[in-house]
Amino acid sequence: MVREQDILARPAPRRPPRLTSRRIGIHTSTAGGIHNAAERAHRLGCNTLQIFSSSPRQWAPYELSDLQCEEMTRLRTSYDLKPLVIHTNYLVNLASTNQLFLKKSIEAFRGEIERALAVCADYLVLHPGSFRGSDRETGLLQTAAAIAASTQNLDLAAAGLTILIENTAGAEFSLGGSFEQVAEVIDRLRGIVPAAACIDTCHTHVAGYDIVTEEGIYATLQHLDATVALNNVKVIHCNDAKAPRGSKLDRHQHIGKGTIGKEPFRTLLNDLRLAHAAFIAETPIDRPGDDRRNVDALKRLVA
Ligand SMILES: [Zn+2]
Ligand SMILES: [Zn+2]
Repeated sequence: MVREQDILARPAPRRPPRLTSRRIGIHTSTAGGIHNAAERAHRLGCNTLQIFSSSPRQWAPYELSDLQCEEMTRLRTSYDLKPLVIHTNYLVNLASTNQLFLKKSIEAFRGEIERALAVCADYLVLHPGSFRGSDRETGLLQTAAAIAASTQNLDLAAAGLTILIENTAGAEFSLGGSFEQVAEVIDRLRGIVPAAACIDTCHTHVAGYDIVTEEGIYATLQHLDATVALNNVKVIHCNDAKAPRGSKLDRHQHIGKGTIGKEPFRTLLNDLRLAHAAFIAETPIDRPGDDRRNVDALKRLVA
């Protein structure tokens, strides 16, 4: 295995990063403290970033120190890093039919919200969950109810925090494989908690939508607008795919190196209806420098 060379181990670059008219970033490591992610993202040439606020596959509760949160805010201001996006732990399943697991998930998700508020994050991304043992409609209702339960007595609106429902690859029992399902959860939360969408290009493609042909991507955007509404798409996860369209297999690939190719990313990055969105890669790091190469690949596509 190649050991990833941490960008913090090298001296800070002298040249300022190339500016773009879009918000472009990448999921960034918080090793050594959450604030280190801001320094890493800046050195990678990002002007937005996504992080995990806890270990992504562990239940262990996690406390962020005030010092880390203050330092994160200070670095974000001085580097103009916005929005700050947090991705929820993968274990959380708010559609679970197991009562014990559901309770654990609600507690863990409340922890995610509390940390997002503590670190002044703008968005908290959530996969809508798996309805195994139930049916899709019940699952969607339960996810919305569980989000509401997790946010009780917390004022997300006042803090400027919005929960983003992410579309998924549409594997069996998983919620969010269609834009309609994402829209339904958001609609159910209207007036309860600020909610909008995160759309992942890899998930959209393997779920079966055509974003590769020119005709297809415009039709898909039109469909997205008619269901979720493009102004509700706050984050776009920019991932190429290893698996073919419709395969329901979620395997992320480097920008331009997979079954999507780079042109759809050019279309999305330059569509003025999406100019408000943050474009964030969740691409693999197979070789040192892959993170910077994927950020650069996205920046180069902006006209
Ligand atoms: Zn994603
Ligand atoms: Zn994915």
